[in-house]
Amino acid sequence: MARVALVTGGGRGIGRGIAERFAADGHTVIIAARSQSEVEASAQAICKAGGSAQGRTLDVTDPSAAERLVREIVSTHGRLDILANSAGTSYIAPLVLADPERARAVLETNLLGAWIVSRAVLRPMMAARWGRIIHIGSISAEVAAPFATIYAASKGGVHALVRSLALELAHAGITVNAVAPGYVRTQLFNETQGRRAELKNVPREQHEADLLAEVPTGRFVEVSDVAWAVAYLASEEARSVTGQVLTVDGGRTAV
Ligand code: NDP
Repeated sequence: MARVALVTGGGRGIGRGIAERFAADGHTVIIAARSQSEVEASAQAICKAGGSAQGRTLDVTDPSAAERLVREIVSTHGRLDILANSAGTSYIAPLVLADPERARAVLETNLLGAWIVSRAVLRPMMAARWGRIIHIGSISAEVAAPFATIYAASKGGVHALVRSLALELAHAGITVNAVAPGYVRTQLFNETQGRRAELKNVPREQHEADLLAEVPTGRFVEVSDVAWAVAYLASEEARSVTGQVLTVDGGRTAV
């Protein structure tokens, strides 16, 4: 069935892949992030391929803006069925040198942002007694890495939020889950791993080879691998799956 979906962080990377997957599945997609040019480019690419999409600017740390966008979606499309929240940021730094404001921005985007956008979509989903909320978590919540303290904590928080909210909404026809990707080549990956290589004092290529050696499948995860997992959790057929973290990491956390 064709649904109406909001994809945050859909201007690039994993969020863009999720938006493209949803559109290919016949859903109407509202793509939201801060960069207007990126959300418009994502939406235009989908429309050119025959799908239905619109780009909207949104900062997920702003509760009023999130509520305004949801009201606009409901007034235009009559409903909002799916939230895929891929907005995220990272900060890699030794704690002794770390900047509290950068850390605050990571928590506000990744964790409070997940809470804010979940809260914003609840009224139309509760009224329809149907909804799917999917947050992009991370294996960083489980696999410790040096210099990633605030990012790891934010993603651990997202996984905990998912379980708690799933119970709160279990009787309302709304499922709440996370997809936890392993290593996916995106802008965030390039910035994060570039910084980690610097801090380890190894060449970038060596650092990436070290990462790949940790992945049993021997390849990094593709954006589309994550998008298919999100599409499953957004489907009617996933109605009995709630409060879960679906890991898509090439076996990294099975080691
Ligand atoms: P990208 O940097 O490619 O994309 C991040 C997206 O989030 C962009 O569209 C960005 O747009 C948006 N965004 C950032 N801050 C905000 C904000 N305050 N409000 C709204 N949108 C925002 O990263 P990825 O695609 O790699 O990351 C997507 C998610 O996947 C993140 O949650 C990340 O933590 C997670 N993840 C990624 C992994 C990887 O290896 N790539 C591994 C595990 C998890 P803009 O800046 O224009 O707002």
